[in-house]
Amino acid sequence: MKRNTWQREAVREALGTTDGFVSAQGLHAALRDGGSPIGLATVYRALSDLADGGEADSLQSMEGEALYRACSTDGHHHHLICRNCGLTVEIEADAVETWATQVASANGFSQPQHIVDVFGLCAACTRATTA
Ligand SMILES: [Zn+2]
Ligand SMILES: [Zn+2]
Ligand SMILES: [Zn+2]
Repeated sequence: MKRNTWQREAVREALGTTDGFVSAQGLHAALRDGGSPIGLATVYRALSDLADGGEADSLQSMEGEALYRACSTDGHHHHLICRNCGLTVEIEADAVETWATQVASANGFSQPQHIVDVFGLCAACTRATTA
């Protein structure tokens, strides 16, 4: 149904202007800062709709929080995420694809899927912490 369409559009747009992964709370705060009256529950639902529809990537932070991002590719890919500033790099990981397929079939598993995201400190944040 077309319920809450403007909210969903607002969330989609806000996500598109965000570089890295953001939590629903972070995106909600940004929308409110921009003057939107949108509610947090609506942001949560819109984000999970976008993720379900393949319009956003989602992952869990090291703290177990759900994070979202409108990725530039809808193909299978992995992420490098700076846990300090949120900078995100989309990466291919051929070695991971090969390994996942091999280890699954070695154990008699078919249709293997995997989620691999790497958290670390980006170059700028590394410089800032060691300066
Ligand atoms: Zn992505
Ligand atoms: Zn960083
Ligand atoms: Zn993969």
